[in-house]
Amino acid sequence: MKKVITIGEILVEIMADTIGEGFREPIALTGPFPSGAPAIFIDQVAKLGHPCGMVSRVGADDFGRVNLDRLARDGVDVSAIGIDDDLVTGSAFVRYRASGDRDFVFNIKHSASGRIARTAEAEALIAGAGHLHVMGSSLVSEGVVDLIRHAIASIKGRGGSVSFDPNIRKEILGLTGLRAALDDVLAATDLFLPSGPELFLFSDAADEAGAIADLLGRGIAAIVVKRGAAGASYHDKTGSVAVPGFVVDETDPTGAGDSFGAAFLVGWLAGEPPAQALRIANACGARAVTRRGPMEGTSTRADLETFFATARSRA
Ligand code: ATP
Ligand code: MG
Repeated sequence: MKKVITIGEILVEIMADTIGEGFREPIALTGPFPSGAPAIFIDQVAKLGHPCGMVSRVGADDFGRVNLDRLARDGVDVSAIGIDDDLVTGSAFVRYRASGDRDFVFNIKHSASGRIARTAEAEALIAGAGHLHVMGSSLVSEGVVDLIRHAIASIKGRGGSVSFDPNIRKEILGLTGLRAALDDVLAATDLFLPSGPELFLFSDAADEAGAIADLLGRGIAAIVVKRGAAGASYHDKTGSVAVPGFVVDETDPTGAGDSFGAAFLVGWLAGEPPAQALRIANACGARAVTRRGPMEGTSTRADLETFFATARSRA
């Protein structure tokens, strides 16, 4: 099995207990929960029993410990997660609005995650990897962008593959250099995993079918479009398949896309038919939204067996 790696931010998430607008008055909070899109992703890869590791950086503090302990427990190779003597672990405070939108207060760029660098441990992990997964949310510091460019060249140079989830939040779109980094990663992507509207960050086509045809024409082998509760669809040069989502009560949508992407990737790397990989990915995404906390809803194969025994899909 190709070892899967990801490079990017680790943080804790601290969640408001109540729905409302932002953080402009004292409110009750729950956390710290282990978090960071690439961390959630790699935790889900590990829980499915696929070999994997992560390059990141945390502070010498409890927020870092919460994450390292969880990832190591679940089977992630944490040898390239450095501990910074100086900067603290990243954090995100999140509060849901009544509309379902989220307000964030992030400390990522000026946290230990902002100092991810090309260490000997990172080089060793990259040298042993067969697949790189990139989250667009990670392309916010020069160190990470450089390291991802290096990992792409190294892994693709050895015949490995790259997957890419744009995972762009409105808070980061304006950052200098982000656009160029996103385009560079896309140019190396074999498996592209956008949420529906993110297709149009990369194509000027008038509609979704046009954007998919445009991107497949540029050399991306496979595209999976995430559609929230409606499920997801798979597209390649030979055709398309759509699989409906499962009916669940949504408690906390954070982490669904990351868990979904990890599960789809594990199936895709194993050569499973797309419809089967989508079904398992939809199940991981559905289970993720039923748990409070971004990484709390990642699934083992045993969790999925239990889920499938009673699961109902939308169609
Ligand atoms: P995020 O970046 O916020 O984690 P995303 O936009 O990348 O999410 P979504 O489309 O929201 O991704 O969710 C990914 C997958 O999770 C969906 O394709 C679906 O399979 C599952 N999912 C998400 N929300 C629900 C829901 N309410 N009910 C059932 N399944 C869901
Ligand atoms: Mg996402």
